[in-house]
Amino acid sequence: MPGNLELHCVLFVFLLSLTPRLVEILMLKYKIVPVTPYQQNCSVVWCEQTKEAAVIDPGGEIERIIAEVKALQLTVTKILLTHGHMDHVGGTSQLKALLDVPVIGPHKEDLFWLAALDQQAQMMNFAPVQSFEPDQWLNDGDTLSLGQCVFEVLHCPGHTPGHVVLFERGAQLAFVGDVLFKGSIGRTDFPRGDHAMLVNAIKTKLWPLGDQVRFVPGHGPMSTFGEERLHNPYVGNYG
Ligand SMILES: [Zn+2]
Ligand SMILES: [Zn+2]
Repeated sequence: MPGNLELHCVLFVFLLSLTPRLVEILMLKYKIVPVTPYQQNCSVVWCEQTKEAAVIDPGGEIERIIAEVKALQLTVTKILLTHGHMDHVGGTSQLKALLDVPVIGPHKEDLFWLAALDQQAQMMNFAPVQSFEPDQWLNDGDTLSLGQCVFEVLHCPGHTPGHVVLFERGAQLAFVGDVLFKGSIGRTDFPRGDHAMLVNAIKTKLWPLGDQVRFVPGHGPMSTFGEERLHNPYVGNYG
């Protein structure tokens, strides 16, 4: 029956046109809030369906982060840390006290950085901050859910030994902290930094996720893994 077939086709095309909208609704959303004199890319991330949110790397300027959360009408359920450097974790205790949510990450190898927050504050000209330990350390292969979204944890040592990257497959989006930047990679001249290990982590853990993956670095503009594979002088094909 041609008429029926036509109707089916129209219905099919109609459903297809809905698909991007459904994906859009399900997708992880994010808002980058650069904080501290180091312009560290703190990110508020949330599940659009449930409005459940996490704050990644609250380095400081907590009142600005809270203002964003309020403006977006989100419910923060966790604080996530990529690594133990002051510009990424400096506001953690203050934010935890305000929101009463668990602090998750980084990997336990960064314990010595969190234990030395007072020295870090002196070196980096931050107001004194009390040392803390997270409620939960992260390991390679762990997953964290946020509403309908799921973050996969990749342990990527080199900038610091306990650095983790958070990857959300549905959105094809990675929060890489100071592992990788647009056109550069993290410093490795700190205690327990390791250049070869960092390059290896980027090439063996991040590149396999795919060229199309967009990433939010700890500082500076976003990019994609494909773009960095081509042009990054430290880890690119021609680097
Ligand atoms: Zn760092
Ligand atoms: Zn940093």
